[in-house]
Amino acid sequence: MKTETKLVRTQAERSSFKEHSVPLYMTSSYIFDSAEQMAATFNDEEDGYIYSRYSNPNVTEFGDKVAELEGAEASWVTSSGMSAIFSTFGALIENGDEILSSRSVFGSTHRLFTEIFPKWGIKTNYVPFDRLDLWEAAITDKTKILYLETPTNPGVDIIDMEKAGEIAKKHNLIFVVDNCFATPINQRPIDFGADLVIHSATKYFDGQGRAMGGVILGADKLISEIQAFARHTGPSISPFNAWVLSKSLETLSLRVEKHNANAFELASRLEAHSQVQFVKYPFLESHPQYEIAKRQMSGGGGLVTFEIKGGLEKGREFLNKLKMLSLTANLGDSRSIATHPASTTHSKLTEEDRLSVGITPGLIRISAGLEHIDDIWSDIENALS
Ligand SMILES: *Cc1c(COP(=O)(O)O)cnc(C)c1O
Repeated sequence: MKTETKLVRTQAERSSFKEHSVPLYMTSSYIFDSAEQMAATFNDEEDGYIYSRYSNPNVTEFGDKVAELEGAEASWVTSSGMSAIFSTFGALIENGDEILSSRSVFGSTHRLFTEIFPKWGIKTNYVPFDRLDLWEAAITDKTKILYLETPTNPGVDIIDMEKAGEIAKKHNLIFVVDNCFATPINQRPIDFGADLVIHSATKYFDGQGRAMGGVILGADKLISEIQAFARHTGPSISPFNAWVLSKSLETLSLRVEKHNANAFELASRLEAHSQVQFVKYPFLESHPQYEIAKRQMSGGGGLVTFEIKGGLEKGREFLNKLKMLSLTANLGDSRSIATHPASTTHSKLTEEDRLSVGITPGLIRISAGLEHIDDIWSDIENALS
C-alpha cells in the first residue's frame, strides 16, 4: 500500500461490535480469564494488555501507524516529545557516557544536555551543524550517541543525514534523529542510516493544536530497551490523546502537502519583499544547504524563517502588527503561527550564543498553516509595510 492508503486504513483489530472507526479504550487495566493466562501474560509468554502504563490498544495502533510511515520495525509512544527524548537517553546511556550532538537542538533538549544530564555524569559535546569534519574529531571512546535535528529549529538549517550516518556507523554510535520538523511525509531518517527516530506528535501529527504526544521508532532491539525503561518510569500517553493522534494521521499526508505548498509560496513572496533581508526555506535555491535538502527531503516542510530589516525592534513590531497569524509557541498547526525567537524562546541567551545557532535579531519564524495562501500573505505583507 502507498503511504496515503496506509494512513487511512491501518487499524487495530475490530471489537465484537464491528465498529468502523476505532473506539477509545479508556481503561487503566485489563482482565484475564485465568490465573494461568495472567501469569503467562506477565511473563511475556502470551501477548496481551496488562495495564495502560505499559500499553493500550489506542496507543499500539498509533505507534504502529507511525512505524509504518517511518519504515521502522517497532515504536514506543510517550506523553510528549520531551518524554520520548528523555526515555531514549534514559534507557541507553549511563554515567560516564558522552553524547555528540549538533548545537542546533530544540530548547528543552538543550536544557536536558546542559543542566540535567551533567548531574548524572553524562557529558554532551556540541558541534556546529554544518561541520561534519569537526563531528568526527569530537568523538571519544566514551561517545555513545550521535544526535541531531534536521531541519533545525528555528534556523531551518539542514544536516546531511547520510554523512552523519556514516560517521555513526564507523564509530559504532547509536544515530538518533529528531524528525519533528520534516515528518515522515517529507523525510525518512532510517533510509539515511538513523537507528532511532523521535517525534513530538504534538506538532504535525496532531496538526490541530489539541493533544500532546511523542513517539520513538527503530529496530526491535533498541525499542525494547527503551520500553523496559519507559514502562517503569511512567511517561505514558493517555489513551484519549493516542486516539486523537491516530485519527489525525489519516489526514497527515494531505495536510503536510498543503503546509509544504503554502510555506514554499510564502518563502518565494518574502524573498521578493523590500523589507526582508533574507529568507531561509530548505527548497529555495538560495538556502545554503539546498542540494542536501533536495537529496534527503521530498518536500521542504512548513517552516519558513526570514530576517526583517531593522532587527529586534522591528521584529517585535512586526508581530504586533499581525492580525490573523497566531502568536504562540506551537508549530505544525492548521493555523499559521509567527514567533520572534530573539525576544521570546531564546531571549535568555547572550547575543553571541544566539548568533551561534543562527538567531539573528530580526529573525521571524513562520509555521505556515492551512489557510489560503493569499490570506496568510495579506496579513504578513500588511504587517511588513
Ligand atoms: C516541540 C518539539 C519537541 C518537544 O516536544 P513536546 O511534545 O513539546 O514535548 C522536540 N523536538 C522538536 C524539534 C520540537 O519542535
